[in-house]
Amino acid sequence: MTVVELTSDLSPYEAVQYFFHDVADQLGIDDQTRAVLNGTYREIRVQLPIRRDDGTVETFYGYRVQHNGARGPYKGGVRYHPTADLDEVRALASLMTWKTAVIDVPFGGAKGGVQVDPRNLSEAEHERLTRRYMAQVGYIVGVKRDIMAPDMNTNAQTMAWMMDAWGRTHGHEPGIVTGKPLELGGSYGRDAATGRGVVMILDEAAKRMGWEPGERTVAIQGYGNVGSWAARLAAERGYRVVAVSDVNGGIYMERGLPIDLLSKHLTDARTVVGFEGADPISNDALLELDVDILVPAALGEVINDTNADRIRAEMVIEAANHPVTPVADAILCDRGVTVIPDILANAGGVTVSYFEWTQNIQEFKWTEDDVNARLGRRMRTAYNKVCDCAEDLETTLRRAAFAIGISQVAEAAHLRGYV
Ligand code: NAD
Repeated sequence: MTVVELTSDLSPYEAVQYFFHDVADQLGIDDQTRAVLNGTYREIRVQLPIRRDDGTVETFYGYRVQHNGARGPYKGGVRYHPTADLDEVRALASLMTWKTAVIDVPFGGAKGGVQVDPRNLSEAEHERLTRRYMAQVGYIVGVKRDIMAPDMNTNAQTMAWMMDAWGRTHGHEPGIVTGKPLELGGSYGRDAATGRGVVMILDEAAKRMGWEPGERTVAIQGYGNVGSWAARLAAERGYRVVAVSDVNGGIYMERGLPIDLLSKHLTDARTVVGFEGADPISNDALLELDVDILVPAALGEVINDTNADRIRAEMVIEAANHPVTPVADAILCDRGVTVIPDILANAGGVTVSYFEWTQNIQEFKWTEDDVNARLGRRMRTAYNKVCDCAEDLETTLRRAAFAIGISQVAEAAHLRGYV
C-alpha cells in the first residue's frame, strides 16, 4: 500500500514518507507497524520572544520533533533558518531515525529548528534566542532522552550556550549536546566529521567505479561546515574541486580551486564569492556543471523536477539533507546517475556525535586519529552493506539504505512490544 502519491509538489515530510512507503511496500511491512514507524512520537512548538539589541521584543517560533526512539535516545541537530517549520523539522527528524539505523549507532531520530534568518541576528541575540529555545524545550532533553547537535547556522558556540542553559536547571551534563567546543567536552574530529564522512564514502564509491581521484572533478554547493570540510578533504585526496558556492553565489576554476587560499579569502570576505582567479557562477549553474561528482551540501530540494534532467554529474552525493526530491530521484535513476542518499552519505556527523556522547559518559577523551579511524570503519561498513543490499534487491542505493534502516527500527519496535 503506497500512501503518498509521487507528485512534484510534495512537502519535505511527505517526500520522506514517500521514500518510506515505497520501501515498506517492497519489504511487506504491515500497516500497524507502518503507523508506528512513520508517525512522529512527540512534537513541540514553542514561542521564543527575545529582546533585540535595540530594546524591542521580537517573537520567533521553534520546534523539536522526536520521531522514533526504538533504538535509543532521540538524536538530531537544531537548525536556524527561515524555512524551518514543523513539516521540515518532521522530515529531518524521520531521516535521522533511518540514518542512525543505517550507520548503526544506538540512537533514535529527532530534529529541532528555529524559524529565523540568523543573518539578521547579532551574536548577543543569537545567544539569547538559543538560551530561550533550550529553556522552552529542555524538559524533553536529556543525556539518555534526547541529544541535540549543530545543523545549518548553528555551531559549537551554539551548543556551548545550550549546554550551559540546560545545566543551570538540571545540573552539569556535557552529554546532552554534541558538537561542543573541545574545551567543554567536545570530541576531536567532530567539526570535520560530516565532510570527512562524505569524502570517505566518495573514496569507497570511486573504488567500486574504478575511478582515480586525480582524474575526477567535483562541484560542491554550500561552503559551511559540511561543504568546506568536504572540499578540503576531497582536494587533499587528489580530487579536482572545480566549483563551490555559498548563499551569495558560486565560483568556478577549471584547474581546481586552491583550498588553502580560498580559506584565507573566506576569512576576510566571509563569502567564497570574489575569489581571485575564479569565474563567478550561480548556484543553479553549479548544479548543472559537467563534473563527475556533484555534492549538494546546503539546502534541501535543490535538485527537483525543474533541473533533474539537466544534471550532468555521474554521481550525486547527498551531503545535505533531502537535497533531491522524489520526482528528481526517479529522473536521475532513469538517467543512470548514481545517487548516494543523505541517510548514508552525511552520517559521519551523527557517528562522531555518538563518539562524543560516549566519551562524555565515560569522562574520557579519544585522540583524533582514533576518532577518524573508527569513523572510517563505520562509514565503509555501512556503505558496503548498502551496496550489497542494493545488489541483492536489484534497486537503488536510496531504497537499499531505507530498507536497512526500516528493517532495523521495525525489529527494535517489535522487540520492545510497540507493535
Ligand atoms: P552551515 O550553516 O555551516 O553551512 C551552510 C552553507 O550553505 C553555507 O555556506 C551557506 O552560505 C550555504 N547556503 C545557505 N543557503 C544557500 C542557498 N540558498 N544556496 C546555496 N548555498 C546556500 O550548515 P552545515 O552544517 O554545513 O549543513 C549543511 C547541510 O548539511 C544541511 O542540509 C544539514 O542538514 C546537513 N548536515 C549537516 C551536518 C552537520 O554535522 N553540520 C550533519 C548532517 C547533515
